[in-house]
Amino acid sequence: MAKRDYYEVLGVSKDASPDEIKKAYRKIAMANHPDTHPGDKAAEERFKEASEAYEVLSDPKKKQQYDTFGFGGLGSDGGGFQQGFADFSDIFGSGGFSDIFGSFFSGGGSRRGAQYHGTPGQSLRYDLTIDFLDAVHGVKKEISFSHKVKCSACSGTGGTGRKTCPTCGGTGRIQQGGGFFSITKTCPSCHGTGSILEKPCATCRGTGLERKTERLSVNIPAGVDTGSRLTLRGKGDAGENGGPDGDLVIFITVRDDKYFFRDGQDVYLQIPISITQAALGAELYVPTIDGGQIKVTVAPNTESGRLLRVKGKGFPAVNSTERGNMFIRLHVQTPKHISLKARKMLKDLSMELGETDHPEPMDYEA
Ligand SMILES: [Zn+2]
Ligand SMILES: [Zn+2]
Repeated sequence: MAKRDYYEVLGVSKDASPDEIKKAYRKIAMANHPDTHPGDKAAEERFKEASEAYEVLSDPKKKQQYDTFGFGGLGSDGGGFQQGFADFSDIFGSGGFSDIFGSFFSGGGSRRGAQYHGTPGQSLRYDLTIDFLDAVHGVKKEISFSHKVKCSACSGTGGTGRKTCPTCGGTGRIQQGGGFFSITKTCPSCHGTGSILEKPCATCRGTGLERKTERLSVNIPAGVDTGSRLTLRGKGDAGENGGPDGDLVIFITVRDDKYFFRDGQDVYLQIPISITQAALGAELYVPTIDGGQIKVTVAPNTESGRLLRVKGKGFPAVNSTERGNMFIRLHVQTPKHISLKARKMLKDLSMELGETDHPEPMDYEA
């Protein structure tokens, strides 16, 4: 398939402002986001195409190269677009229940064509931080959040005496103006639903929805990492007038550990060894992310910085038992406190080893 022009992809002109480019991208990304279109390849393609275009057109340097040389100016990878969308936080907003996120999931164009009437409920974002070691085995977390549910007073009907809206005659839209310049807009009496209530519910004032705080126990699977998302279907805001319920999307952040650090499924740990252990070799007990210890063998003549690999002691993949590896970096540490006796022994050792004060330079990478 031939690559489409980036301006065409975003539907903006060549002299669009950065703000217009951002708005255009956000609209397309929101309408085609994989979270709201699971398994929809066409939407995924549109999302990727728009993200790639935005990646280039939002970067003044890349934009200039593209404007001057077209795709050829960006190198073979088409501008270095990174797959995934962890870096688009300024587009989707962050923190708490984001308005941008809400409207992004609320449907509008994104669920066009689905078989429903009414207004779909907004999907909501929930930010959850878990401990590093909880990501190893998974964890159960209590969350508390506020969302719109069906009004308990009217069972979500909004009231009684529903009848066809007299303003628009049930079409939900009205014509304004006349002649060539008439415009169609959403009916202000029924807000586009085509019907009105003779006796709107006093509790929800006819919306059929009320706000409720809910507690949920959520199972966070083993292997999640910062940037992982969990979607709880139907736990967002309830839809109006028969529209589908939104989702609750949990954005995970995993806290750093003091000693372990993680790279994908692999985990790294630095362990100090003494100069004698480095010289003679040793067997050491080292903690793992499982909470236990493993025995590792340090070979004689080990240089500082050597990496030992322990297979299968890294993180599991989400929904898989396959685990990454653990890498132990050995750091040779000189003794901190040296007694007079030890000082003498080290001097004797230095003599015995024939150490020189004219060292030969060595390969920098070694
Ligand atoms: Zn109406
Ligand atoms: Zn009600």
